[in-house]
Amino acid sequence: MELRNIAIIAHVDHGKTTLVDALLKQSGTFRENQKITERAMDSNDIERERGITILAKCTSVVWKDTLINIVDTPGHADFGGEVERILNMVDGVIVLVDASEGPLPQTKFVVSKALKRGLRPIVAINKIDRPDERHGDVLNEIFDLFANLDATDEQLDFPVLYGSGRSGWMASDPAGPREDLSPMFELIVSHVPPPTVEPGPTRMLATTLEADNFLGRILTGRISSGSLKPNQQLKALNRDGKVIETFRVSKVLAFRGLERVPVEEAQAGEIVAIAGMSEATVADTLCDPAVETPIEAQPVDPPTLSMTFRVNDGPFAGTEGDKVQSRVIRDRLEK
Ligand code: GDP
Repeated sequence: MELRNIAIIAHVDHGKTTLVDALLKQSGTFRENQKITERAMDSNDIERERGITILAKCTSVVWKDTLINIVDTPGHADFGGEVERILNMVDGVIVLVDASEGPLPQTKFVVSKALKRGLRPIVAINKIDRPDERHGDVLNEIFDLFANLDATDEQLDFPVLYGSGRSGWMASDPAGPREDLSPMFELIVSHVPPPTVEPGPTRMLATTLEADNFLGRILTGRISSGSLKPNQQLKALNRDGKVIETFRVSKVLAFRGLERVPVEEAQAGEIVAIAGMSEATVADTLCDPAVETPIEAQPVDPPTLSMTFRVNDGPFAGTEGDKVQSRVIRDRLEK
């Protein structure tokens, strides 16, 4: 099967989640009777609470004989180095913009990083069904934004789709045909190159970190060379090339639709999550024991704010609130 890895960049509310749901529904990923119970990319508790994206989640859809991994990007500039690492997993980006609101300043940071990486964007002007849509002006604003961010001529020559994620169509002409999302699937396959893979033993840069109740630590990334299998012995190198640990891979998980499924083997180019390590973290290289040099990576920024939580011995101690025990507070913070 062919493979494409892309990211979607959009301002909050410009319709990213709705579009990914529609792509899932129209791809061969779901059986007819299988309901999408959870909206793609929007499933994290805290995220819902705060309305921001913390984890770069990956959704994959199958179009004809191509598996398309769609990675979510944070819509903001926080979490130093995170945007760069996420964009390192993909070979193309869709810049999704509301046809009425136009590009908004918050997405500028992520777009500038994508252009700097040399990615050639696909522009999708969404919500064309809005009565106040103004796709012509919005297209000019996007062009100006890219030009101001020093896009190359090739990047400025971006393909454009117009449509409505909610109504489930995209077309190269705002007038339509207003049929389905196949123009978007086809543009992804034709415009975005397949992942570049390097020869040599297994190497993967850890891009995101999560904790799972059953599997423990989970690191997600794109395999840049070699392959990954359960039980394989790996080592983790930090950015300076220091060995953090050696470990046995307990699970290799690939993304299928909204789910992560264990696989017997994954090849260079694929985006996978692996478990089995106990110390390795984001920006470390997970690799074959023979590898000596880590993959170049942006360092994780140190926290810009730290807080100490301790027993309240002030004059108002105990006068209000019921979740006051340190254990309860810790659980909440960790959640
Ligand atoms: P996200 O924050 O980018 O993930 O945006 P959502 O997918 O959650 O959509 C934000 C809002 O825009 C929701 O109320 C959607 O129903 C609405 N929306 C999504 N797609 C369309 C569309 O094509 N047309 C219109 N008019 N509204 C849409």
